[in-house]
Amino acid sequence: MRAIILSIGDELVLGQTVDTNSAWLSQQLAAVGCAVAAHLTVADEQRAIEQAMEESVGRCDVLIVSGGIGPTDDDLTRQALAAVMNVSLEPNETWLAELHKFFEARGRRMPEANRIQAMIPRGAAMIFNHNGTAAGIDATYVSGDQKTICRVFVMPGVPKEMKAMFTRDVLPHVKQISGGAVILSRTLHTFGLGESAVAEKLGDLMRRDRNPSVGTTVTGGVVSLRVNARFDSMDEASRRLRETEDDCRAALGELIYGLDDDTLQGVVAALLVANKKTVATGESCTGGLLAKMLTDVAGSSVYFERGWITYSNRAKEEQLQVEPEVLAEHGAVSEPVVMAMAHWARYQAGAYYGVAISGIAGPTGGTPQKPVGTVCIGLGWRRPHEPGTVGPDPVVTRTFLFPGDREMIRDRSAKMALTMLRYHLLGKPMPF
Ligand code: ATP
Ligand code: MG
Repeated sequence: MRAIILSIGDELVLGQTVDTNSAWLSQQLAAVGCAVAAHLTVADEQRAIEQAMEESVGRCDVLIVSGGIGPTDDDLTRQALAAVMNVSLEPNETWLAELHKFFEARGRRMPEANRIQAMIPRGAAMIFNHNGTAAGIDATYVSGDQKTICRVFVMPGVPKEMKAMFTRDVLPHVKQISGGAVILSRTLHTFGLGESAVAEKLGDLMRRDRNPSVGTTVTGGVVSLRVNARFDSMDEASRRLRETEDDCRAALGELIYGLDDDTLQGVVAALLVANKKTVATGESCTGGLLAKMLTDVAGSSVYFERGWITYSNRAKEEQLQVEPEVLAEHGAVSEPVVMAMAHWARYQAGAYYGVAISGIAGPTGGTPQKPVGTVCIGLGWRRPHEPGTVGPDPVVTRTFLFPGDREMIRDRSAKMALTMLRYHLLGKPMPF
């Protein structure tokens, strides 16, 4: 079953109001297994509305319209629908009586302009509006040759009125038409590999004709897999969704750090808590972003000890004991420097982990050897207290080259530091 959502209003086309109705309606329709073929938006012009309706009725089983049913001259959805159905508009006596009652209760006479809000194309049904004066319409379009049949629902544009009307009087019909089908969705988040590398690992799972389908989107360096399962019953949809999730995990392993609303920092926080480990940070180019992310999570005092922002060389020397010779020989953006920063942040804080970042966020400061985007990250941890373990506490360091502008480079640096910490907590090697 396919639906098209048609939003009507000058303010939408002009970009003065963001069309939130269509997004909300799409989510509601997806939940009952109804695929949305298109979102259309047109101005308050009768001919434009008619054209959009004429094009849509042949392409879907249900056309969901919102807007343009107010009392003013620019509200023309009723007229357009009647013209497309080739029938007249007739007053609905029940709604007219409601309108009279509505105005009487406020001690006013109903303005003549409001009569139009009770007009319904001949043969269509009126939908009660419990939150406003515009009646909705439940119509069935049938083409002259009877080959095209499309159910058309018209609702007010006001989001609150539209939502109430949809939930109460439209959704039950849509469910009936879709015959109990459902779409279940889940999002799996990864960080560290690019979108095409993730797609390569997923292989056939991303085939366009697969159900459940798997698609990728990227936001802030996080590559997310969106899994949609469309089946006739909730049981089958949830079972098949789980199977596809397992298949994705088999293909990507620990690269998947979380589901749906999970954040990287939230997942790392949960691991730190579960493993009873604490962390301290030493940051240069990220200016405290890593500490900010680690403390985004409520209850972070359990695992976050403290952080240093050692931006200058002097700060690195004074606060995190980086030797001037090391700075002079390797430069501030180097693995020996983040090694010292991670070690001393951890040691001075008395934390289990120390994480350090030093990089060139740009746009200036790059060199041929160390271009903008070069970022060194160090992760140190306390030497296990086991007999026979001697030597310095371990620190691993990595150098990355992140693309993008200053904001992106700083964001990816902090996320990569969290990712190194996450893999260590999982006891797994990073696959990149
Ligand atoms: P009525 O609701 O009175 O029948 P209408 O449906 O055309 O008339 P308008 O008076 O044009 O509604 O708009 C009412 C409010 O609803 C405005 O603030 C408008 O911006 C908002 N609105 C209309 N359509 C949408 C939409 N698709 N998404 C979000 N807001 C919308
Ligand atoms: Mg309008």
